[in-house]
Amino acid sequence: MAAKKGGAKGGAKGKEKVKKEGKKLSALYEVSGETITRKNRTCPKCGPGMFLAKHKNRIVCGKCQYVEFMSKKEEVKEETKEE
Ligand SMILES: [Zn+2]
Repeated sequence: MAAKKGGAKGGAKGKEKVKKEGKKLSALYEVSGETITRKNRTCPKCGPGMFLAKHKNRIVCGKCQYVEFMSKKEEVKEETKEE
């Protein structure tokens, strides 16, 4: 976070938008590649600090490999069955 403030001698260094990585930036979810980590789904094992990666029909914790399956009807239901 090297944000230069009041730099008179800066010149045109292109468009460099220095956005502070605040909490507003990823308030709802975090998208990295094709992995969407929703903020409202956290790992019950790792705690509220670890978010689960959403897959096609399941959400997986990248840390402890916790898998939570979800059906179309009840996607909020916790199912830990392995297929
Ligand atoms: Zn976990």
